[in-house]
Amino acid sequence: MLKDTFNRNLKDLRISVTDRCNFRCTYCMPAEIFGESYEFLPKEEILSFEEITKLATIFVELGVEKIRITGGEPLMRSNLEQLVLLLNRVHGIQDLTLTTNGYLLEQQAEALKKSGLGRITISLDTLDDELFKTMNGRGFDTKRVLAGIQAAQRSGLSPIKINAVVQKNVNENTIVDLAKHFKGTGIIVRFIEYMDVGNLNAWRLNEVVPASDIFDKINSELPLEPLSQNYAGEVASRYKYRDGSGEIGIISSVSQPFCGACTRARLSTDGRLYTCLFGETGLNLRDPMRDGATSEQLKALITTCWEKRDDKYSEDRTVNSAGQSSNKKIEMYQIGG
Ligand code: SAM
Ligand code: SF4
Ligand code: SF4
Repeated sequence: MLKDTFNRNLKDLRISVTDRCNFRCTYCMPAEIFGESYEFLPKEEILSFEEITKLATIFVELGVEKIRITGGEPLMRSNLEQLVLLLNRVHGIQDLTLTTNGYLLEQQAEALKKSGLGRITISLDTLDDELFKTMNGRGFDTKRVLAGIQAAQRSGLSPIKINAVVQKNVNENTIVDLAKHFKGTGIIVRFIEYMDVGNLNAWRLNEVVPASDIFDKINSELPLEPLSQNYAGEVASRYKYRDGSGEIGIISSVSQPFCGACTRARLSTDGRLYTCLFGETGLNLRDPMRDGATSEQLKALITTCWEKRDDKYSEDRTVNSAGQSSNKKIEMYQIGG
């Protein structure tokens, strides 16, 4: 088992399969920056499915058990189900999942399931159509996302989780409706504190709704009680409805960081390894691989990188430093959350 300088194992890998997205969420890819003329990565810079699978296999040999496909918007990558098929054949992956905005899911859910995707997370910040149109920056209402969620249910992807980023004075007053909508359906909504990922979303600490406030808002209308963790290092605090009609999660990345249990590595669309969501530089694995490095040589590169890892950005973030970093952090859409 690989260990970093704080004794954290390497157990999870998030793979960003594209830097493109059909949404322009204000907190991730603001439309005023990612306009028509924005230049995304050219095809030759993007890892092929075979390259992703080769690297994933090495990561699994080094201890990774869980793989999440993400982006940008992963369902915009053509023939994504073929990658799922390839990853599904990698011996040792115990959990293969994907995070999507759901817009293209209705057409793809079944093929993804048939190719071996186990479960899925769909992002949906609010059910209020007018607000959703603003938040996704593209004027799309919730209809297609909700249809995507239904298609995921029909195809047997399970459990289905919904990610909702909560922003002060934006969607905080709609989170109870979101909880109510999915209560009793078996779908787990996870409310996420708005994070200062990257440098483009003009994040401010006072835009964060702390986990305790999210809990209070929901608990006051839909009484909750805590649940134990599913596994060590689970990032969401789990709560079940007292009436037994399901559970929710709250992810307190800002108010109660969980760096001490962070076992995640992230592979960017162009094949760089990031050991923290707030990383500034990534280890280029693509070029050595394309230059003919053997699996053993790539394994050695990853091992050295993980053994040197000392990231704990969220624990070091202070009220004073929050949002003030002048360092160029990786953007969320490049490594996928
Ligand atoms: N496009 C896909 C989606 O939206 O589900 C996958 C990539 S997206 C970057 C992954 C997750 O990161 C989404 O659930 C999104 O809401 C979340 N996210 C993006 N920016 C965030 C931020 N600043 N703070 C918290 N979560 C964020
Ligand atoms: Fe796209 Fe996901 Fe970022 Fe929204 S959060 S802009 S859907 S990558
Ligand atoms: Fe992991 Fe970095 Fe997030 Fe801490 S800040 S939990 S080390 S990704």
